[in-house]
Amino acid sequence: MTASSHIETLAIHAGREPDTTSGAVAPTLTLSSTFQRAADGSYPQGHIYGRASNPNRDSLETCLAALEGGAAAAAFSSGSAASLAVFQTLRSGDHVLLPDDVYHGTRAQLRDVMAPWGLAYTEVDMSDLDAVRAALQPRTRLIWAETPSNPLLKLTDIAAMSEIAKRQGARLAVDNTFATPVLQRPLALGADLVVHSTSKYLGGHSDIIGGAVIGARADDGFAKIREIQGKGGAVPSPFDCWLLQRSIATLPLRVRAQSASAQRVAEFLAGQPQVAAVHYPGLPGDPGYALGRSQMQSGGAMLSFRVRTGEAAAQTVAANLGLFTQATSLGGVESLIEHRASVEGPQSRTPRDLLRVSIGLEHVDDLIADLDQALRAG
Ligand SMILES: *Cc1c(COP(=O)(O)O)cnc(C)c1O
Repeated sequence: MTASSHIETLAIHAGREPDTTSGAVAPTLTLSSTFQRAADGSYPQGHIYGRASNPNRDSLETCLAALEGGAAAAAFSSGSAASLAVFQTLRSGDHVLLPDDVYHGTRAQLRDVMAPWGLAYTEVDMSDLDAVRAALQPRTRLIWAETPSNPLLKLTDIAAMSEIAKRQGARLAVDNTFATPVLQRPLALGADLVVHSTSKYLGGHSDIIGGAVIGARADDGFAKIREIQGKGGAVPSPFDCWLLQRSIATLPLRVRAQSASAQRVAEFLAGQPQVAAVHYPGLPGDPGYALGRSQMQSGGAMLSFRVRTGEAAAQTVAANLGLFTQATSLGGVESLIEHRASVEGPQSRTPRDLLRVSIGLEHVDDLIADLDQALRAG
């Protein structure tokens, strides 16, 4: 392996070697669910059974750990399986701090799955450090941060959160799905764990559901995640691992191009009379702007905006767009738009006039022209 720490090089080479038996340059897909033992009963290649490990998953995990600058990674069959594994490392009676605008699926997981098992949690505004300190309890063992957040694009100070977690003897996990390791490296800022929905930018083409947990250290805490991966069995298929690794090769290029376009789209939207607010940390007026400049490389490729005349007008704008597809999810090559409150359901706290946008790789002038015509028609 190359000793480079440049993410472009790691994205292509980490965990990848030409196949020694065939010479194949592209990774070989190993579908076998079971692996042969040697005459003495040992497993010469280290693999026993596909739930426990698989060569494609090993390669992917090596690559993911390298991208985040971690010591180890565990790949899961979805981002939700990855976050659940982190919560399952805790004990009944433990307490978790959660951001008040956390991804709605993470909140639902704690509320509907983990709370009945005895895990307590408090939602707090993580942009307010005093509020975070005040919400700590004797049995707070995990601080879960998500930055930028979904869908309000609020930023959390990862280094400050890490200080608070260390003083408390709790672990800090950061959902880095929106920023990706291209724009933000939470482990370098003191986080203990990074969580991804690899269904988003890492997959990048809206054709994979996957997740990952990356650990700063290969310690007992990470061993527990590995144990839940193997014993819980929410593992990705070899083909999904193969596809993900193929997608990751272009991750740095995709994310930088998408972020540059998002910056221009955000600036355009901020100047439109039909737009009441744009949530994007790359805009100088945004509450996350200063923090974003210190902990992110750019504002990212996600933004949301509010339509001045309300929910019905927001729905009309979304419907009038030609290039943006109305669909949930994010991080793919195609631009998506979504009326978030109606997707999140009746318990949603998202403003009803808000549209969330995932900027793809189309030409930015085309995206802006499409938004322009849809706002005028709305
Ligand atoms: C999509 C998403 C998840 C959940 O991941 P799945 O792969 O859909 O299970 C978690 N966090 C964030 C920020 C997400 O966008």
